[in-house]
Amino acid sequence: MVLGLSADEIALQARARAFSQGVVRPRAAAIDRDQEYPFDIVKALAEAGFLGMTMPKALGGQDASFLDAVLVIEEMAKSCTVTARIVVETNMGAISTVMAYGSEAQKKLAARLVLEGDKPAICITEPEAGSDALAMTTRADRRGDGYVINGKKHWITGAGVSRLHLIFARVFDESGESLGIGGFLALRDDKGLSVTKREQTMGLRGMPEGELTFENLEVPASMVMLPPSGFRRGFADLMNAYNSQRVGAGTVAMGIAGGALDHALAWAKTREQFGRPIGEFQGLQWMLADMQTQLTASRLMLYAAARSRGPDASAFPDPMLAAQTKIFASEAAIKIVNDALQVFGARGYSRELPLERMARDVRMFTIGGGTAQVLRTLVASKMLGWKLPQTRDGYAPKPSIRDAAE
Ligand SMILES: Cc1cc2nc3c(=O)[nH]c(=O)nc-3n(C[C@H](O)[C@H](O)[C@H](O)COP(=O)(O)OP(=O)(O)OC[C@H]3O[C@@H](n4cnc5c(N)ncnc54)[C@H](O)[C@@H]3O)c2cc1C
Repeated sequence: MVLGLSADEIALQARARAFSQGVVRPRAAAIDRDQEYPFDIVKALAEAGFLGMTMPKALGGQDASFLDAVLVIEEMAKSCTVTARIVVETNMGAISTVMAYGSEAQKKLAARLVLEGDKPAICITEPEAGSDALAMTTRADRRGDGYVINGKKHWITGAGVSRLHLIFARVFDESGESLGIGGFLALRDDKGLSVTKREQTMGLRGMPEGELTFENLEVPASMVMLPPSGFRRGFADLMNAYNSQRVGAGTVAMGIAGGALDHALAWAKTREQFGRPIGEFQGLQWMLADMQTQLTASRLMLYAAARSRGPDASAFPDPMLAAQTKIFASEAAIKIVNDALQVFGARGYSRELPLERMARDVRMFTIGGGTAQVLRTLVASKMLGWKLPQTRDGYAPKPSIRDAAE
């Protein structure tokens, strides 16, 4: 009741839960062990209508709300993090940016690919431009009607399996003047786009993370995404839409934590030591209660952040709430999963149970998509109403900042 779900939302949640337990859970360990992108599960997700459900009906989606997507993602994440991330990235993130700012032709292309099972890739981070994404050096030089892209991105989720790529690059006109940052769509098999490295990751091992190199990648005018306020403020516009994925990422973390807690609760009732179920020890009871409290708080924040997006497919969640939610849910989830593993004792440390996989997977969510530290800066900046430039010269005395502080 307190979560305020409608009958339709509860029914969707139940359908997603059955899918997760029946189709996804039996495959989860192998996906991790074999570092295998689960194309079979992608196909089943598409058939079940979980891919691109938030896209407009006119484009083949279902006009589903973000809350609908969150309910599905949470259930998938209880079984398999890779599967949950595929649902995230076909419903929010790069696809949100295309739905917000893409041309009709770009939206149609993205929607078709997603419905065929594609998980679009977002290409922002570079070796020397991580949290400081504006330091990116990948460049898009104007040539005729289109652009030519050169540069390198790394830690790109889906490298080698994603077909659609949304690439952020610094835009230059014919005279070499920098115009700001723009979004460029490219396809996996385009000449000039190649995967030059696969990362060996701690968790999420079925999802390839890789380095992409762009060498004279030609992007025609039809694939250029010009944000509404032009390239000058392009980065802010593109990021605002893309950052809807923070709600998805927080949900994956929360789902992993919920799955781990389910396991821990069952074990606490059955495992006996000192002649009693371990759940009879107050030390564990209080751990379980804290885990549940953190989980419920995360869930309430995530549902509220999802609802803040509203019904329009080109809208996105409140950025402040999305950032706070990702900070809270990701940090809570790491603690919950760690405690769930503790409840299992040595068995929690074994590869025969899913707890160690969950602990490896959940660790990512305070890093990717904006670190917990950088998101705190964003929240503080909005609270204070100040820009908080992080470069040294950005802190050169500025009357507006100094005056307000005094
Ligand atoms: C599994 C995974 C998937 C990813 N997928 C993608 C993807 O698909 N596309 C993409 O573009 N990127 C992706 N990333 C990259 C991710 O967005 C970056 O890792 C993240 O932005 C941080 O950048 P960095 O790793 O270079 O860390 P750095 O920026 O080098 O930060 C190192 C540490 O310093 C801290 N720090 C940095 N600046 C500040 C500051 N101003 N104040 C306080 N602390 C600070 C950070 O919080 C962090 O703890 C992915 C990362 C991971 C781990």
